[in-house]
Formats: sequence, structure tokens, C-alpha cells
Amino acid sequence: MENLTELFGSKVFNDSTMKKRLPKETYKALQKTIKDGKHLDINIAHVVANSMKDWAIENGATHFTHWFQPMTGITAEKHDSFISPTDDGKVIMEFSGKELVQGEPDASSFPSGGLRATFEARGYTAWDPTSYAFIKGNTLCIPTAFCSYGGEALDKKTPLLRSMEAINRQAMRVLKLFGNEDVTSVKTTVGPEQEYFLVDKEMYDKRPDLIFTGRTLFGAMPPKGQELDDHYFGTIKSKVAAFMEDLNKELWKLGILAKTEHNEVAPAQHELAPIFTTTNIATDHNQLTMELMQRIAKKHGMVCLLHEKPFDGVNGSGKHNNWSISTNTGKNLLDPGETPHENAQFLLFLCSVIKAVDDYQDMLRISVASAGNDHRLGANEAPPAIVSMFLGDELEAILKSIENDEGYDAKEKTIMKVGVHVLPRFAKDTTDRNRTSPFAFTGNKFEFRMLGSTASISGANIVLNTSVAESLKQFADELEGAEDFNLALHELIKRTIKDHKRIIFNGNGYDDSWIEEAEKRGLLNLKTTPDCLPYYVSEKNIKLFTEHKVLTEPEIRARYEIHLENYSKIINIEALTMLDMSKKDILPAASSFIKHLSDTVASKKAAVSGIDCEYEEDLIKKLSALTNEMYEKVNKLEADLADTAQYSDDAQKLAEYYKDTVIGDMTKIRAAADQIEVMTDRKYWPYPSYADLLFGVR
Ligand code: ADP
Ligand code: MG
Repeated sequence: MENLTELFGSKVFNDSTMKKRLPKETYKALQKTIKDGKHLDINIAHVVANSMKDWAIENGATHFTHWFQPMTGITAEKHDSFISPTDDGKVIMEFSGKELVQGEPDASSFPSGGLRATFEARGYTAWDPTSYAFIKGNTLCIPTAFCSYGGEALDKKTPLLRSMEAINRQAMRVLKLFGNEDVTSVKTTVGPEQEYFLVDKEMYDKRPDLIFTGRTLFGAMPPKGQELDDHYFGTIKSKVAAFMEDLNKELWKLGILAKTEHNEVAPAQHELAPIFTTTNIATDHNQLTMELMQRIAKKHGMVCLLHEKPFDGVNGSGKHNNWSISTNTGKNLLDPGETPHENAQFLLFLCSVIKAVDDYQDMLRISVASAGNDHRLGANEAPPAIVSMFLGDELEAILKSIENDEGYDAKEKTIMKVGVHVLPRFAKDTTDRNRTSPFAFTGNKFEFRMLGSTASISGANIVLNTSVAESLKQFADELEGAEDFNLALHELIKRTIKDHKRIIFNGNGYDDSWIEEAEKRGLLNLKTTPDCLPYYVSEKNIKLFTEHKVLTEPEIRARYEIHLENYSKIINIEALTMLDMSKKDILPAASSFIKHLSDTVASKKAAVSGIDCEYEEDLIKKLSALTNEMYEKVNKLEADLADTAQYSDDAQKLAEYYKDTVIGDMTKIRAAADQIEVMTDRKYWPYPSYADLLFGVR
């Protein structure tokens, strides 16, 4: 492999490239924009654009694009070439400051939830200078935010950037109270661990369900699943290893800090973890990672499945959002410090997260809700749909001692006084032991584990940043007016623990008794996407987002609408795919096999009169019963899908109908089909089996 340090970031217009290529004054002005959010003069943008273009052309680019993240959840780009005609019939390569700063893609084909009236199709993209431009293929990609012409956010980046400003504003107020004179800004950081499956491309191509929906809608369990636990951290197959090597190289070129990779629990399942970085960059990087995973898998004759539940009965895929807050001076605010003073500050930030997760459990649940993730949350493989927090025994004991003014150390009986005592160092392995918690403290950060593998991490981080900003705002309001700061701080922490301790749960989140216990504590258990989405537009949540200027009320209502529509559309596509596969492949295959069996019976009886054909006749009876049953359920699904028309003007009701009626029909069709598969001669079965898919990459 080439020199890794040279390879890293070689396709990124990053700080060191800018320093090298930009005139000193331009570089300084741009830094001001990046670090302090200062407005960038168009003349400076011109210089930056020109330098970016020269660099991009030297690196093989011919086109540029504003790269953005519309509400579809995937990234969008429209390529323009740099060429500009000259009088003598030739071309020169041009890229202006205006083209860098602003673009005008047609917004009419992206989901807007009614924000963009059809007569006003224009939208615009605006450069996000805090995320570096990069080259993908032959195109210079400029990370941008995407808005309607009226300025409403139509994307996932705009509110994320706004939420980072919100938490910066409020955290700075709190940090001032602790006398942190050298700190000028605060950012949240994220390291998202990404799970995925790899399947053989030829087999994938034979499965319409994988092609149209990203998951298998049919498939009986193979003789071997994940029960032996022999895949987790197992030796990586050479084909997969070659893919990973290739992927890493491409990610490194883009400055993405891919660090850890290993096999996951399920066969054919793997994970990639990057080193954490600033939240909006981590979000861009995660989108790119998912895109590259899919592209590079194809080069290796495989397909990367990012769906949350590609296979029934086998673990699904999620994303762990490791999240923390740190200052521009490099201090992680969720890292307990060395002095009583630092510890007091840590405890307050810890409390701000505890309060936020309790107050906004509904929004956190919504931020991970999707048709795909509904298959995971609450099943015995992923965190339950109930949001709770794990702090570890040690930290919980400390909080308890503060709450009750009791000793937390059994031997010393020390009563924890905030601002006086030094906290013990938490051993990482004790804080990280609980794998069933949706939201776990892991020593110096929180790990939010409910995210689905396909989703953009932007939604979850918008909610985290904004809800913690709200806690910090309330804390600052109270402490700024306090006469005795230490006393007020102690009382505030004590009260926060008392008021919000119901959200803390250190036990097994997969246990049924937890569901009962959580209900007693008054925690929400929102099982599905249609169950949780109405909370989006509650008064409390609208107040949160509008007060912190993260989303306006029309933007929130639009997002609620988009989310609902997306859910219904996905189930509808799945249902139609299921009908198609049932009618055109599965039922005909079963019929052919039944005919084969019947012909066999006839010829056996012709050969030997009175011969007993128990095996064939038994199978014919069983298969006929199952195919009749399946046919009936197929007809029911068809009729129920036609009935969706009655909810065409009520997106919430429509989503509930899909959840309650359509999914029920689909489950029954699948149950019959999977039994038919088990009884049918391999030669007649139209699709690669679960065994082929899960163990097909060798
Ligand atoms: P593990 O979860 O396997 O013990 P780590 O705790 O080292 O591994 O890291 C898991 C993920 O958390 C990595 O992506 C890592 O970069 C990220 N991470 C570590 N520290 C922070 C932080 N301060 N903020 C955000 N993410 C972090
Ligand atoms: Mg993890």
C-alpha cells in the first residue's frame, strides 16, 4: 500500500491544502468563517473557488457539485462541468465564488412536506465551509445546506448546524459560570459505529425483495444461523478482507478516520467504526461511508445491505452514535476531571444529559424511528423501544449519595459534596458493560444505540444537541442569579437527580420485567413509528425546537408529514413486491412442484398397480393446503391495499392502517410461503435461500 500518511485526506481540500494554496489573507478570512461563523466576503469566495478548482483539476476532477442531504435520507448531487466557452471556440475551466457559495437545484423533486409550494420549485444550496470539500470520482463535491426559496430547511444539515449553535450558546453560559476564561466555543463530537451485511451479488440479483426493498420478504431459516456465536470477531474471509482494505483506502483518501472493523454477531454481518470528529463532519462522513460501502462491495462481486433487518430471525443492523461535548481548548466536558472543581462541572453536564434524555425521550425515539428500524427496536437483539439510560454502578452510587446526602463509599462513608470532593476514576469496563441499554455512559461519552443502520445520524444528533442545550439553558438561568454559586450548584444537581432518576436503568433492557417497571416509572414505550410520530408536533417539542431556533413550526410540521409519508410508502413498496413475488414466482413454483409430484404418483401407479405413494400424496395435500392459504392471504392483501385510498388525506391514519392491517397481512403470507419453501424441491424454488445468502460469500 502507498504511504498511508500521504494517502490520508489526499482527496480533501482540507486545512493543510488550504494553508498551502490560499493567499495568507484569504486563508485567514476563511478560517474566521469556519471557526467563528463569520460571513464570507464574495471576493474572498472567488479566490477560494479558484484555488479549489485548480486543486480539483490537478486531482482529476472535471465537474463540481453541491453535495447535500435532502429529506430522502440519502445524499443528492447535480454535476456541472467546469468548462466555460471562449470566443475562439475553445473552453476554459472556470469556477466562481458565486458557484461555490450558492447553488440553485430544482427543489420540486425532493420531499418538502408541503413547505415548498409547487409553483415555487426553486430551492437553493448554501456552502457549509465547516465541512471540507472533497473529490469523488471526477467531481469536486462541496458540502452544502439545502433550503427552500423562502429559507425553510429542506435537508438534514441545516437543523444540525443550528442545533450545534444552540448547544454552543448555552454551554458557553454554563462554562463562564465555572470561570473557563480561555474557552471560546463548544462543539459536540460523534463517532458512529456502522453495521452492515455483505451478500453475493449474483444471489442478490435473483431476489426482487432485496432489490426493491433492501430486505428479504421471504425466507425460511437455514439449518445454521448465529446460534454458535462463531462469527462475532471471527476470522475475516479473504473476499471480505479485500473489500475492507479497498474501502479503508477510499475512506482515508476522503479524510474519513476509519479505524476498527470486525465481523458482527450474525453471519455475513460486519461493522466499521471511525475515530470520532465534530458532529456535522461525522454526519457527512457517515453518509459517504455508507455510499462507498455500497459502491466498493459491487467492485468485489458483493452487495452491501444497509437495511436494519435484511433477514428475519438473524440480528439486524444498527448504528451506535457515540456522542460527547468538547471545548475548543480540547477539554471533553463528559470526562470527569482531576479536581473537585472540574468534577462539579462534569456532574452538571452529566445532569444536563440525564434531564434532556428524560424530558425528550419521545423526540429521541422519533429520531430513530423508521419502517426498517421498527423490526429491531424491542426485539431481543437491539435496545428496547423504551428510552432509558445506563450510568454504571459507580456513577449511579455517586448520584444517589448526592441526592440523599449519604455516603457513596461503603468503607469511607464519604458524603459527596459537589465542588469539594474528587470523584473516583471510573474504570471503562465497568461503565461499558451493559450492552442492552439504549443510551449508555461509557466513561467519557454517551453511546446512543437505538439508531438504525440506514438512517442519517443527523436526526438523532439534532435532538441530542437541542435537548441538552435546553437543559443547559435552564441550568444557566438558575445559576447565573445565584448568591452562593456552590450551594446553588449542589442543590440544582440534587434536584435534577431526584426529578429525572426514573430514566436511569442499569438492568437488562431485554427483560420483560423492565417493560412493566418502565411503565410504573411513567416512561414511554412507543413501539412503532406511527405510535411515536404524533409526539413530534406536541406543544413541548415545538417549543423546544423553535426556542432554540433549530426548526420553525412549519418546518417541524413538514418533517412530521415527510416522516409519515416515508413510512407508508416503504410498507406499500414492500407489500407490492410481496404480491409480485407471490403471484409470479412462489405460487407458480409450488404448483409446478405439486404437478411434478402428481405426475410421479400417476407414473408410479401405472408402473406398479396399487403401489403406495404416501410420500408424494402427503406432500401434495400439505402443499395444496398451504398454497390455498397463501393465495387467500394474497387476495386479502390486495384488497386491503386498495382500501388505503380512504386515508389519502390523513397521513397519520394511513400510516396506522399500514402498520395494523397491511403488515399483518404480509406476516401471514410470509408464514405460509416459508413453510412451502421448506417442503419444496430445491430445483423448483425460484430464489436463493437464506443459507445461500448468509453463507454465500466465501
Ligand atoms: P468501544 O466502544 O469498542 O469500547 P471506543 O470507546 O474507543 O470503543 O470508541 C467507540 C467509538 O466512540 C469510536 O468511534 C470512538 O471514536 C468514539 N468516541 C470516543 N471518544 C469520543 C468522544 N469524546 N466523542 C464522541 N465519540 C467518541
Ligand atoms: Mg459500541
